[in-house]
Amino acid sequence: MCGIVAYIGKGQAYPVLLKGLKRLEYRGYDSAGVAIASGGQVQVFKKKGRVSELEEALTGREMEGHCGIGHTRWATHGEPSDINAHPHTSSDGKLAIVHNGIIENYSQLRQELLNKGHRFQSETDTEVLIHFVEEVRNNNRCSLEEALRIALRRVVGTYVIVILDGDHPDTLVAARKGSPLVIGIGNGAHFLASDASPIVEYTKEVVYVNDYEVAVVKADELILKNSSNEIQTPYVQKLDLELAAIEKEGFPHFMLKDIFEQPRTIFDCLRGRLDAAHAQLTLGGIRNHVEALKEADRIIIVACGTSWHAALTAEYMIEELCRIPVEVEYASEFRYRNPVIRKGDILLAISQSGETADTLVAIEGARQQGAIVLGICNVVGSSLSRLSHEGIYTHAGPEIGVASTKAFTAQLAVLAMFALKLARDKGSVEEGRFRELLTGLEGIPARVETLLEQNGKIAEIASRYRDSRDFLYLGRGYNFPVALEGALKLKEISYIHAEGYPAAEMKHGPIALVDENLPVVILATRDRFHEKIVSNIQEIKARKGKVIALVTEGDEIVPSMADETIRIPEADELLAPMLNVIPLQLLAYHIGVQKGLDVDKPRNLAKSVTVE
Ligand code: GLU
Repeated sequence: MCGIVAYIGKGQAYPVLLKGLKRLEYRGYDSAGVAIASGGQVQVFKKKGRVSELEEALTGREMEGHCGIGHTRWATHGEPSDINAHPHTSSDGKLAIVHNGIIENYSQLRQELLNKGHRFQSETDTEVLIHFVEEVRNNNRCSLEEALRIALRRVVGTYVIVILDGDHPDTLVAARKGSPLVIGIGNGAHFLASDASPIVEYTKEVVYVNDYEVAVVKADELILKNSSNEIQTPYVQKLDLELAAIEKEGFPHFMLKDIFEQPRTIFDCLRGRLDAAHAQLTLGGIRNHVEALKEADRIIIVACGTSWHAALTAEYMIEELCRIPVEVEYASEFRYRNPVIRKGDILLAISQSGETADTLVAIEGARQQGAIVLGICNVVGSSLSRLSHEGIYTHAGPEIGVASTKAFTAQLAVLAMFALKLARDKGSVEEGRFRELLTGLEGIPARVETLLEQNGKIAEIASRYRDSRDFLYLGRGYNFPVALEGALKLKEISYIHAEGYPAAEMKHGPIALVDENLPVVILATRDRFHEKIVSNIQEIKARKGKVIALVTEGDEIVPSMADETIRIPEADELLAPMLNVIPLQLLAYHIGVQKGLDVDKPRNLAKSVTVE
């Protein structure tokens, strides 16, 4: 959460900061600010609201300076306001800080500092941190870098921080623990950011800072030190990211672009791994754990949000194909409830960003107890990929829309390959079924392409139901997690209350909600439950509910009962979620747009949940 960008170099800092903040806005967007060092002074400008509002307020001002830091916030401590916006400054106004994360022991530090005469303007934990660093520096008469290192020993929590010092405008000092920090190496300049998106147009050479490292950055020098003050050799990597991937490319919103990219992102995810013609499946990322997987007594999957829905789908796939018991857990619950973990248990962790705080802590605990951790994530080099024993990347490319879409279908593709590969290794799937599913999976991108042609029709359906107060989403079997995901998308994007339910559970409560005002989205594509779901539709129609049905092409029975029909290309039920979720993404998107909402930046949400 929150976006950080900083610049030091020969050029002007402000244009880099402003552009960078716009690129990072998907990570948090309740307020924004910049601080620039110039002429021994630190100038701070910050404002509640979007980056564009900050930009407007600063139009026409002198923004000179070669060293600056910027922040777009997702508030944790104190409401979004001008005062709580970052950067925050020390008592003497010389130091300015931007921070991503939470300082958990901030109230204790705050009290100590208050006793020493410090006064605070904001309610944030961040302001406490910069005063604490100032206090340590003054007491020890040491450098900022040293003061930061000492101060961080007392800090409990997660952070990326970048500090600028008005008296030393030739140096930025940064540190991280638990959230990502990338440093781009330019020509006589360095760029620091929460992810590579503000950096890619200037340089492709980057260094990912590790947890507990402190970086001392000048225009032409980068020094990394670990917590014991030992110099580390920066590992310079080439960025595998094109500028086009983080721009809208003609789409009105990133969310629509992400949705329409799915034929390609699923294809990219399968490429080089799946070869249906030769019945081959290769997952190089988990090659060292083939035996452990074959022998596993159970698999635990931890995830949050949309990734948790992918995990639930995987439970169905793995249990069906591999006959290994699977438990699906919310990472936030798993980490705190002292779960039973046995040596050799496989823990599969799923996270789009690979930075989800709860998931990372959950796997750390499981690793200590002897579990084998396999990660599935979208961001190469993320914390999850580093904390896992092995793992599989989804290769969906940067997902800028805050509500996850293409990352979800790529996760499903990876999980289908994982289940198929393990089933074959174990010999728990018949060769004929294995080949059939491989061919089906290979055919998914083309089917998604066809499905997207119904975008206009889904926009029309959206216009008929956009004023509804509630929605119900129902599905059985593989379609149950899809119902959950459809409901989540609608909540996130359109702020309409929506519930996902296993269709048969409807009778045990939610049916009380059904009347002529309730749209019920029913996943009724052809599978082994088809007749049962037809009965569920009858039950809803008998109570005058409005049925929006997803049906397999060629089905004429369900359309004759439904108020709205969305036709889905034929697919095996195990693979159908990758198709069925797409109209639900589009429905949420169109309802949000038609209600005049900012679908790329839904209220209160942020991408990459790096706080617990
Ligand atoms: N905890 C800090 C605040 O509330 C930083 C939040 C963020 O990561 O944006 O200001």
